[in-house]
Amino acid sequence: MSQVTNESLAKFGKLLQEGIPLIAEAFKHEEDEQKELFEWQERRFTRKRKLLLESLGMILRHKDEIISTPRYANIDVHFIFDDSAKVRTSCEFNFCGAPVSINLRLATLLKIWDNDQFKIECDCGADAIIYKFKSTSPSDDCVATALCPCCKKEIHDIKSVPPSDYVHIVNNFFIDDMTAVARNFLAKWRLAKKVFQEKIKNGQNGRKLQTADKLYGDSDLCSLETMIQELQLKEFEEASIRT
Ligand SMILES: [Zn+2]
Repeated sequence: MSQVTNESLAKFGKLLQEGIPLIAEAFKHEEDEQKELFEWQERRFTRKRKLLLESLGMILRHKDEIISTPRYANIDVHFIFDDSAKVRTSCEFNFCGAPVSINLRLATLLKIWDNDQFKIECDCGADAIIYKFKSTSPSDDCVATALCPCCKKEIHDIKSVPPSDYVHIVNNFFIDDMTAVARNFLAKWRLAKKVFQEKIKNGQNGRKLQTADKLYGDSDLCSLETMIQELQLKEFEEASIRT
């Protein structure tokens, strides 16, 4: 064994004996940056949750339009329930080294909120929507909070529904969403393969064509902020026409 290797081993042994953490500076930087990124994301999701709830009335007024418009329907709203709800609204996969995230979509959230368990009558007569709930165990009372889209009143300490009801509904809808994403991808791959094979049949050079080149995504993505602005503008224009 060379002298250099012996010295390295001796240094390593000394570090272990002294209990000095064997974390290189690069690891420390990575940890710090990951923490900063996490905190920054949490702030962003809290802001978006607040924005969505402030616009709840308008979003519900345009429910059918949102569900039928892919760029609105697919908006990521996985942040809507906080950690205490213990529901699954986001999933990350590693497909052969390609990271893929599937998050709760706005259209799915609107379908979840359409369930009777997520509605409670407000004093004003409208249906308030349950947007927050927490439970510590299935046998505990669930304490939920609702927001009225009409008078904006918050209703606290709702205990009419067992916590498992909320959790099951959210999780089941999210699993349906994940299945839909997988099916959608497979359908797009089959279509791309068909387009590729047709081009080969029509005499185009197969060496320059690949199925993956013909794989296209859905329509362009839209942010929550853009959708709210577009819906506000639409309502403003409709009100202007009426007056
Ligand atoms: Zn109300």
